[in-house]
Amino acid sequence: MAPKRTKRFTRELEKFKKKEPEAYRRIEMAINELILDPEGRSNHRLGTTLKGYRAFKVNDDLRIRYQICRECREREMQERCIDCDDTPDDQVMLLSVGHHKDVY
Ligand SMILES: [Zn+2]
Repeated sequence: MAPKRTKRFTRELEKFKKKEPEAYRRIEMAINELILDPEGRSNHRLGTTLKGYRAFKVNDDLRIRYQICRECREREMQERCIDCDDTPDDQVMLLSVGHHKDVY
């Protein structure tokens, strides 16, 4: 199933495409990897203020922040998807992408 992307995510990805094409290529590859196994071991749940969100490690520096709709409904998320009520449980929503220091 194709992941959904927030406006923020799309905007951030566009910036990479223009300014950091190599990072952009890696991110696109990482998205494909992520959707094959959104709950896999490359991912981790975040604690404290970003509790409930997940992060996917693109490389040492780049992170994709995302959530899975089942978890989005179970918890009170700060960024619940726009059309969460119409999405399947395993819908992946890509929230944000960037350098480690910018995403968290
Ligand atoms: Zn949702």
